[in-house]
Amino acid sequence: MRNRVLPRAFERLELLDAKVSRAVLRGRDGGNTTPLPDTLATVSDGREIANPKALRKRLKRLQRLSRWHSRKQKGSANRKKAQRRLARVHARIAHVRQDALHKATAGLVAKNKSSDQRPTVIVIEDLHVSGMLKNRHLSRAIADVGLYEFRRQLEYKARDAGCLVHVVSRWEPSSKTCSGCGWINEELTLADRVFICQECGLTIDRDFNAAQNLAALA
Ligand SMILES: [Zn+2]
Repeated sequence: MRNRVLPRAFERLELLDAKVSRAVLRGRDGGNTTPLPDTLATVSDGREIANPKALRKRLKRLQRLSRWHSRKQKGSANRKKAQRRLARVHARIAHVRQDALHKATAGLVAKNKSSDQRPTVIVIEDLHVSGMLKNRHLSRAIADVGLYEFRRQLEYKARDAGCLVHVVSRWEPSSKTCSGCGWINEELTLADRVFICQECGLTIDRDFNAAQNLAALA
């Protein structure tokens, strides 16, 4: 585990992460930041997989270490020492996150359960991650969730277990559509955490509603 080579996309997310969190600390966002979501994934059967929050817990420490590092003279022994400590915190964050993603994806595929207890098809949404990363309020939350890695693991584990992964285009309005009657709320924004249907009155958690719609596509 220690020497695991992280996929390219994962490394890039890590870097973006650090950049964004510094911007947040300087108050450029006017204190209005999107908190890290509590859930990593919402499943149509009602399960919620908790987000490890690996980065947020260690964010302050990371910021302190990187300031300390940048103040050291280039090429000095102290700079090298700071570099090593910084690398250790980065590696720890990656490890905790990777571990949580492995548990979550293995739990979803449920390879070792009997065939009537594991899914034959898993539907996930192809969120446009690079586009979302341009939105500063969202980027830290999304980067911390490690969506690329989540999907990569889910796909190879599902393949191993003989389960299909159906990736739904991001243009499918799964969040905006009422899972009860099909009414579409064109005005739904990312800030709306609860979906309220104007047609049938269904009031439901936003992600759970989206998960229901995805399940219907399986
Ligand atoms: Zn409805």
